Amino acid sequence: MLKLSTFVVGCVLAASVLSAQKLDFQDTGAPLKPAVVDAQIAAALKDVSVPVIRRNIETLVAFKTRLSIGSAETLPPGVGAIAASEYIKGKFEEYSKACGGCLEVKTDDFIQPASKANGSRVLRDARMVNVYAVLKGTDPAQAKRIYLITGHYDTRNTDVMDAHGDAPGANDDTSGTAVSMECARVLSKHKFPATIIFLTVPGEEQGLQASAHFAKMARSEGWDLEGVLNNDIVGGNTTPGETHQSKTRIRVFSENVPQNATVDEMKRLIQYGNESDTPSRELARETLDVSRTYFHVPPATPADSKLPYTLSPVMQMRLDRYGRGGDHRSFNNQGFAAVRLTEWREDYNHQHNNVRVENGVQYGDLLQYDDFDYIAKVARLNAATLATMASAPGQPKSATMFAQNQDNNSVMSFTASDGAPSDTWYQVVWRETSASDWQYASNAAKYSDMVKGAAHTITVPISKDNVYFGIRSCDAHGHCSAAVAPVPAVPVRPELQPAK
Ligand SMILES: [Zn+2]
Repeated sequence: MLKLSTFVVGCVLAASVLSAQKLDFQDTGAPLKPAVVDAQIAAALKDVSVPVIRRNIETLVAFKTRLSIGSAETLPPGVGAIAASEYIKGKFEEYSKACGGCLEVKTDDFIQPASKANGSRVLRDARMVNVYAVLKGTDPAQAKRIYLITGHYDTRNTDVMDAHGDAPGANDDTSGTAVSMECARVLSKHKFPATIIFLTVPGEEQGLQASAHFAKMARSEGWDLEGVLNNDIVGGNTTPGETHQSKTRIRVFSENVPQNATVDEMKRLIQYGNESDTPSRELARETLDVSRTYFHVPPATPADSKLPYTLSPVMQMRLDRYGRGGDHRSFNNQGFAAVRLTEWREDYNHQHNNVRVENGVQYGDLLQYDDFDYIAKVARLNAATLATMASAPGQPKSATMFAQNQDNNSVMSFTASDGAPSDTWYQVVWRETSASDWQYASNAAKYSDMVKGAAHTITVPISKDNVYFGIRSCDAHGHCSAAVAPVPAVPVRPELQPAK
C-alpha cells in the first residue's frame, strides 16, 4: 500500500516539476511592470480640481443651447455655441497667462456649407469654431510630434435641428470639454519634450463636421500627430436607481481595422490576426499602461469610487457604441490613431432629450446627473496619458516582422523615431494571442542590441505564432510610447489574393 507520506511527497514533486516548466514566452523577459511615478506628472494630477471642473461645466451649461446650427443673430446674447466658444477661448487665454504665455491659443473658424443631402443636419451655412491651445514641446528635435485631447462643446436636445430650445448637455459633452480644459490648465504648468494640443470642437451632433475640418487640416499640413484622446460623455451619469453604474471604470473604444486601410493591408491583418494591433488599439493599451502607474486597478469596490486615483480604463474592442459616432472617427478617417473615452453606463433619458418631466420621469442632460469627482478622475487619466506620451520618445518607425524563417524565433526590425534622444531604449512587449493587453516585456539588459542607436534587428526566442508583439520607445526615466506592432514582411498568400 502506498504510504500517505510518499504520496504527498510525490504530489509535491510533480507539482514543482509542473510549476518549473516555463513556456518560451514566459521564459524570455519578464511580466510587464508599471513604470515608476514621474513626480512632475503626479503633481499635475494632484492639481486637477473638482471645483474648477464644476465651474466650467456650470458656466457652459448656462449658454442654454449650444447647437452648432443656432444662428448667433437670432439668439439672445450669452446663448449659443459661438458665445460658448468665446468663453472657452477666454479660459485657455487665462491658463496661458498663468504660465507666462506658454499656451498658444488658436481658433479654426470656418463656415460649414449647407447641404441638401439626405439626412443632412446642416441645412443653412453654419459658422463653426474649433478652439484649441497648443503647449509646444520644449525639445526642438521632438516638438513636431503632437498628442491631442478633444471634447465637443456643442449640444442637442430631442430634435437635432432645434436651434432655440434648451440643450444643457451637462454630460454630452460638456464633461469632455471640461476634461480638455482642465488638462490644459494643469499640464501648462509643466514642460514636455513633445507638443500637446487641447482641443474643443462644435459640430459633433450635426455630423462630426468640425472635428473633420480640424483632422483634415492636420493631415494636409503634415502634422506628426501620434495620438488623439476623445472624451465624450464622461460625466459618470448618476441617476437615482441606477445600480450598475461604475465609478471605477472608463470605457476606451478603439477601431481595429483602420478605416483607411488598403485591401492589401486588410488581407495582411486577416492572415496574421493583427487586427487588434492597429495604431488606435495600441493607443488604448497605452491608457491602460499609464493607469497601472498612477491609478489603483481592479478589484475596486464601490466604496473606492470616490478615491481620486481609483479608475480603470477598460478596452472596448470596437470603434464606438451601437448606432453612435464620435469625433475620434474624424481623426481615424485621416489615418490618425484615436480613441474614445466614455463612462461605463450611459442613461439615454439624460442625453439627446428635451428637458421635461413625463410620467414622473425627469428627462434631459442636466447638471444634477454629473459626478464631478468622476470627471476629475477621467481628467487625471487623460493628463497622465498625454504627459507620459509627450515625455517619452516617439513610437518606433518601420517596425517589421521577418516571418519567412520556419523556426521558433521572432526576428523584428525597426528604426528610431525622429528626434529620439540618445538615451532612448526600446522594449519589446508581447501577449498570448487570446489576451487583450500586453503581459510580458523584454529585459533591456538582456538584449544589449536593443539599447540606443538608430536601426535595430532583434531576435527574440519566442515562437512568433504563439504571441503578438509590440515595440515601444522608452526614455531613461521609464516613459514609454504606445507600442507599434511589427508588420509581417511576407507576401499575402496567393489564396487570399483577389480572383483574376
Ligand atoms: Zn457626444
